[in-house]
Amino acid sequence: MIHDLRPADGSPGSPDAAPDTAADTRCARAWAVLADVLDPEVPALSVRDLGIVRDVQTSADGLSLEIVLTPTYSGCPATEVIERSVLDAIEAAGLGPATVRLQRSPAWTTDWISDDGRRKLRAYGIAPPGRCGTVTESPIRLVRRQAVDSPNCPRCDSPRTERLSAFGSTACKSLWRCLACREPFEHFKPI
Ligand SMILES: [Zn+2]
Repeated sequence: MIHDLRPADGSPGSPDAAPDTAADTRCARAWAVLADVLDPEVPALSVRDLGIVRDVQTSADGLSLEIVLTPTYSGCPATEVIERSVLDAIEAAGLGPATVRLQRSPAWTTDWISDDGRRKLRAYGIAPPGRCGTVTESPIRLVRRQAVDSPNCPRCDSPRTERLSAFGSTACKSLWRCLACREPFEHFKPI
């Protein structure tokens, strides 16, 4: 978590924002609250598991909390729902007022899903996305092709799976079937 340390523009009485324990505590509590805000499309995952919470900071005047979110898939209708859930949770915890700022660059990648999040996905019956590789090492992202390779079955871990449809219950997922245990499952598409 990074506090906004810029001095408040043009407010003479405002002290330069020195590290402030009250603000630290408030941000830390906000992070904890966000660990319980679930993604509407993948209720197994919190917004923190998804890696879409990029920052939590207090405003220069210290009055409000700013949550920086990077939406997952552009145009994913879940974004507005997530924004609302985040604000509701922060306010319910008494940490408001708060605002959400959407930060679209750098773009979210499934690589930001935490290891904990990947375990939760599997337990939920969804094959987690393969790693795309870090963007800095591979600006062209050719490695992404490998990530399209068949995911293992989230139930029996068999690599023998086939894709049934490019789209599952949401555009973010594809529909697969395991050839070993015969169960269909969804795969969170790597991007
Ligand atoms: Zn299986």
